[in-house]
Amino acid sequence: MRLPKIRELGEALKSLFSRAYTGKYPREKVIPPDGFRGCPQFSETDCVGCLACYEVCPARAIDYVDDREKKQRVLTHHWEICIFCQQCERACITEKGIKLTKEYELAEFNRREGKSQSIKELVICEHCGGIVGCLDHLKFLAKKVGPLLYANPTLLLARHDELKLLEKQRGESSPHPRAGHLKLLCPNCRREMILKEQW
Ligand code: SF4
Ligand code: SF4
Repeated sequence: MRLPKIRELGEALKSLFSRAYTGKYPREKVIPPDGFRGCPQFSETDCVGCLACYEVCPARAIDYVDDREKKQRVLTHHWEICIFCQQCERACITEKGIKLTKEYELAEFNRREGKSQSIKELVICEHCGGIVGCLDHLKFLAKKVGPLLYANPTLLLARHDELKLLEKQRGESSPHPRAGHLKLLCPNCRREMILKEQW
């Protein structure tokens, strides 16, 4: 019994005069190593508001609100709920819309303040007022599918909008013979419009 006690005493004395293993945080900030999973952050430019991250988040740390009046989708990341699993980053369609950072100082007096947001412009159906999606998402898809975008009028119009062609076409003095095609419509209204035209 006595031998282990003597050994422990020796270790205690040794550690008393040796350098501390612990860091001096918070007096000295710790630099996290590569691969550290810190707080995820949205990118203002690379997030297109597609909601893939919202769908995959196992902790429900991402939510969103669509405001039809302001034509805005607001995505919110609540870091007090986040478990830093990186699923959002892996599922992001642009691969840069949300990224885990090395930020770990996340303590707040009010837990509800612990959040970051991404605000995106919404496209509203010009016929029924339904939500088509985020404008940046449509533009992203239009670029991604290349020439195939001519098969999808909504993507084509989003691309024209980006190239400032849509405004010009709509402002032409003689109305476009198929003016309905220059409207941004949800899939249902688009289908109805095409059926009316055909029959
Ligand atoms: S890291 Fe995981 S828990 Fe946190 S927001 Fe992304 S998917 Fe959700
Ligand atoms: S672009 Fe990425 S970060 Fe933005 S909503 Fe889609 S998955 Fe989330």
